[in-house]
Amino acid sequence: MDRLDRKLPSETNRTKWAAMEDVIEGGPWLFQGQPIVLQCWEQGMSLQHQKHTQIPIWVRLKHLPMEYWTEDDLSTVASGVGTPLYTYKITTDCSRLDYARVCVMLDYNSTLPKYLVVMHPMLRDRKEVPTRIDVEYEWLPQRCKQCCSLGHIAQACPENKKVHHGAPVMVFVKK
Ligand SMILES: [Zn+2]
Repeated sequence: MDRLDRKLPSETNRTKWAAMEDVIEGGPWLFQGQPIVLQCWEQGMSLQHQKHTQIPIWVRLKHLPMEYWTEDDLSTVASGVGTPLYTYKITTDCSRLDYARVCVMLDYNSTLPKYLVVMHPMLRDRKEVPTRIDVEYEWLPQRCKQCCSLGHIAQACPENKKVHHGAPVMVFVKK
């Protein structure tokens, strides 16, 4: 990030940078109703259809006590939903306070809680008291009940079209 920042002196590039931030902070992005998921290239990777059961999703945490509007505490609270990835810039700036917006990696096989209960100590007597934090999912993808993959429903599952062939043949490629 630092390296890129130093390469952005002109107004045009600043606009491009802002546009890129809009793309990163917006979303999720769909193509023909299917979520677009970026994945780093690895050696041996092929262009076959991947099964995705984890997907980054923006969640809104409502009724969050003010003292938890820090990046660390937001991550801790959001971990009740999924693996926290990052918080929305406006959330960490505290310029909009009706809800905290956090991006989490959601395991779609886990339960999707409608609310979390955060136990926090009261200043006066340090007694732990529960606070209910409502969770709103900005978008949830379709999920296939047949193959447990994301992005399609059971009627459109590619597993339905699979034809069973004979045993696989091993082929060696020269280095
Ligand atoms: Zn399926």
